[in-house]
Amino acid sequence: MKAMKLKSLLLALPLALPMGTWADDHHAASPSFKAVEVAPSITMLQGRGGNIGVLSGEQGLVLIDDDYGVMSEALTQKLKTFGGAEKITYIINTHWHGDHTEGNLTLGKHAPIVAHDNVRQRLLSSQEVKLFGMVTEPYPEIALPSVTYLKTMNLYINNEQLQLIHLPDGHTDGDSVVHFKRANVMHLGDHFFNGMFPFVDVQNGGNVLKVAKNLESILPLINDKTVIIPGHGPLATQAELLEFIDMLKGTSAEVEKMKKDGLSLEEMQAAGLSKRWDKWSKGFINPKVWIGIVYASSL
Ligand SMILES: [Zn+2]
Repeated sequence: MKAMKLKSLLLALPLALPMGTWADDHHAASPSFKAVEVAPSITMLQGRGGNIGVLSGEQGLVLIDDDYGVMSEALTQKLKTFGGAEKITYIINTHWHGDHTEGNLTLGKHAPIVAHDNVRQRLLSSQEVKLFGMVTEPYPEIALPSVTYLKTMNLYINNEQLQLIHLPDGHTDGDSVVHFKRANVMHLGDHFFNGMFPFVDVQNGGNVLKVAKNLESILPLINDKTVIIPGHGPLATQAELLEFIDMLKGTSAEVEKMKKDGLSLEEMQAAGLSKRWDKWSKGFINPKVWIGIVYASSL
């Protein structure tokens, strides 16, 4: 009961967010996509929501995440440069959030959707993220993952091995990261916001320190040549990922210390974090909200 009360406190925080968006970190004015080359057959598409990964080749396209519904027309248009949406062989959802999955409603007719079991489970019923005042209605069958897995799975396509690895209870309770084994590329979904405080969905099974722990668990798969596609922000290196993990642990330790000193959440937010974390404020999660998310994770 106590935990519930404190969590509602967090969820009632005022947010410095534009209405109607919750992951609006790049140039959202007109619905269009910027293509960034990741590797010879892999492209990152940046629209309005989460970063999309596209693998292209003889056996068709694999899409990792598919942005907001309002972006579907622009995405369909952009996919023409890869042969068109009808060339999609698989769609992978890294997790259920709408800024990564609403495109399923339009693109789901072209290919099976692959995700962790909990993504299908969540999308079968109405979901809510109170922090953003966002409610997601149940998805119709065509937009639901039809191929699901529990721990890991492999897709062999276009001379590439895509390994999906479930990272439990980090950003949500159903996250996958996708390892392109031959190309040495990783799509980390929302376990990684490059250069900014991340959103962690504590209300729906997420936890800040679990995000750090999950990322550490996959570090052996990453080296200084790995190209990392984050859920939000620009393409990243191993060094930037390590810096992000350091921030997660460092800010958590500061919140923990304030908690031990007997500060309330409001007092912590008034006191703030060390100056060294200031540069992480450039995304849509400001330091006050971040302190609230870290605090709620520790309850
Ligand atoms: Zn997310």
